[in-house]
Amino acid sequence: MKRRSFLGLMGAAGAGLAVPAPARAGVKDFRGFLETPGVLFDGTRCIGCRKCELACNQVNNLPEPEVPFDNLEILDSRRRTDASTFTVVNKFETPNGPVYRKNQCNHCLEPACASSCFVAAFRKNTDSAVDYDDSVCVGCRYCMIACPFEIPTYEYHKVLTPRVMKCTLCGPQMRAGELRLPGCVDICPVEAMIYGPRNELINLANRRFKQFPGRYVEQIYGEHEMGGTSWMYISGTPFRQVGLREDLGTKSAPELTAGALAAVPVVVAVWPVLLGGIYAINKRKEKIAAQEQKQAVAAAVAKSKEEAEEKLATSLSKAEEAANRRVDNEVKKAVKEALAKKEEELKAADASKPDEEEGK
Ligand code: SF4
Ligand code: SF4
Ligand code: SF4
Repeated sequence: MKRRSFLGLMGAAGAGLAVPAPARAGVKDFRGFLETPGVLFDGTRCIGCRKCELACNQVNNLPEPEVPFDNLEILDSRRRTDASTFTVVNKFETPNGPVYRKNQCNHCLEPACASSCFVAAFRKNTDSAVDYDDSVCVGCRYCMIACPFEIPTYEYHKVLTPRVMKCTLCGPQMRAGELRLPGCVDICPVEAMIYGPRNELINLANRRFKQFPGRYVEQIYGEHEMGGTSWMYISGTPFRQVGLREDLGTKSAPELTAGALAAVPVVVAVWPVLLGGIYAINKRKEKIAAQEQKQAVAAAVAKSKEEAEEKLATSLSKAEEAANRRVDNEVKKAVKEALAKKEEELKAADASKPDEEEGK
């Protein structure tokens, strides 16, 4: 089945869709948009040409890469997405030769990034894209810790307005009518990716398993992992050998935290408020700490000044006393010398008296 015919199905499916409001982080019973679009990546088809990386870079106006997209030697090193690279293709050596897997945000049905974000900067949209709103993001980067696929990255190089960066599923361009398909899907020369309604992608994958016995590990990665993802994978190689975690389980991030939240049901409803409160408290603590620090510094400076003045006064007084002692000593010495001189003069006068008497 060609991707265009999948677009046809997409239209039919879309027409019948009840379009719910975008999901809000932390809503307990959110079930994802199961009938909405997704992408199926077939690892048995990918040839590692990096054309999808090029398309992604162009449609998202990302900076030029350090290594040009036609240089395939870079496939020998394992890469991750970063603030200016929303998708990367990695090569994995297997006994049957190299296999390639494209990596990007999986646009989870119940995203961990969204449920961890207390200002609701992430939302699962009706077209499956997990959208990010940088205008409300406070830069806490909880989403980076929460994402089980290690996808969100941060613009550390931007001092004033850093953003969390990740694949957008080309949602903004498709909503604006600039693209009919995600850029990477459209460019792939071997149709390693198919875009269409998620349930149809699952049917297609199962048909391929039947059509080509022995070619695939007969499992669709992302059908159930972490509650399901909009971007799914089929592969001829065990998933862990192409860098996909097999230890995630099938519970979504909100479901994993539901037990703890259920213990205090009201917390579910007030979760963002609660976290917002914690944020505000932390901010207040920081403010108070800054004020206390300022006061402590001022007190320390005043104390030092007082001590310095006291020391100066003591030193001056000691210096004055020493000077007075020196003057006293000098005076005493001068008086002593004067007395000694006078005494010598008197002695000399006495010594000359008999001669004078003899002369009479
Ligand atoms: S464009 Fe297609 S074949 Fe080429 S690397 Fe990307 S997914 Fe693989
Ligand atoms: S893959 Fe990570 S960043 Fe993407 S939607 Fe899922 S949790 Fe969020
Ligand atoms: S869907 Fe769009 S943003 Fe995501 S990897 Fe493909 S081209 Fe890049």
